[in-house]
Amino acid sequence: MADIMKHSCETQGCTKPAALQCPNCIKLGMNSYFCSQDCFKGSWKSHKIIHTLAKAAENNKQDEGYNPWPGYTFTGALRPFPKSEKRPVPDTIKRPDYADHPRGKSLSEEQLRGNTTIKVLDDEEIEGMKVATRLGREVLDEAARVCDVGVTTDEIDRIVHEACIERECYPSPLNYYNFPKSCCTSVNEVICHGIPDLRPLQDGDLCNVDVTVYHRGFHGDLNETFFVGNVKEQHKKLVQVTYESLMKAIDIVKPGERYREIGNVIEKHVRSHGFSVVRSYCGHGIHRLFHTAPNVPHYAKNNAVGVMKAGHCFTIEPMISEGTWRDCQWPDDWTAVTQDGKFSAQFEQTLLVTETGCEILTKRRNGTGLPHFMDKM
Ligand SMILES: [Zn+2]
Ligand SMILES: [Zn+2]
Repeated sequence: MADIMKHSCETQGCTKPAALQCPNCIKLGMNSYFCSQDCFKGSWKSHKIIHTLAKAAENNKQDEGYNPWPGYTFTGALRPFPKSEKRPVPDTIKRPDYADHPRGKSLSEEQLRGNTTIKVLDDEEIEGMKVATRLGREVLDEAARVCDVGVTTDEIDRIVHEACIERECYPSPLNYYNFPKSCCTSVNEVICHGIPDLRPLQDGDLCNVDVTVYHRGFHGDLNETFFVGNVKEQHKKLVQVTYESLMKAIDIVKPGERYREIGNVIEKHVRSHGFSVVRSYCGHGIHRLFHTAPNVPHYAKNNAVGVMKAGHCFTIEPMISEGTWRDCQWPDDWTAVTQDGKFSAQFEQTLLVTETGCEILTKRRNGTGLPHFMDKM
């Protein structure tokens, strides 16, 4: 027969039998005993430290085992992490219509839904686009500087958010159809629309950061995929081919060209390297509206409507996958991932069609104009 446990007082130097328990410890699922209120009060200063430690351990455990969707089968190794609070934007900065809509609806965009007419921008609007896209590029370059092993995508979001505010820009993704953050961070098998969270980036990750800024009535949209630490050769190849496919597509942009040709150019290049083109997400017209006509698919033999004209503004943003082109969505209703869990990469520029070809409004403005991953090749 087992002995009944007898407790003695926790106070240093006190050996009296103890029956009084610390109520904070009980709440935390621990037991600690004191002989009297006096001993308990006398030990409080040193005793309370174990509450702090226990709470920290509890939080860590929650983070590790954080699974908001029990029963959901993930396609790859990436998992969601907890997210920080929504970041505010000062009232002095001009906001798009969806910023304050309860479901983040853009009524100005929905008015034109289904309309395939492509707006030709006037000189003043072109100037507005040039400024917004230049600022967007500056913000993405700030994100590139911090994207590294151990940095969370939430930290990248904070940098993007603050860089926007410094430049009198509203971060366009924030509250767009209730998207909760200021940029998209799409890691590894995430194709696009990843939500920044508290997961620290790991050696070998691919991290795409997609920035759109809204400045004085105009949106500027761009993204790049960055290497995090030492990236596998196959994944470097994926990123390189994705970038090349965007540049080859940009090469054909000029007045008179059909929007549907863009997909043919991209898919031809991508398939020759054994990769595949994501079909569910497209490039888009952009100016006073974030997403509008034209619709710009990146896959071959598409039925995109429209012919390019000087004064059109739109994005090309191919999402290229190592394995299958098929995508599915996490239960957060945003994060798009590959169905086979293999990696995906993306690059995006905002373009202005000119009389002779096009201007890459969001181009990198350092010497070479090459993307950030090439600095690490
Ligand atoms: Zn974008
Ligand atoms: Zn875009």
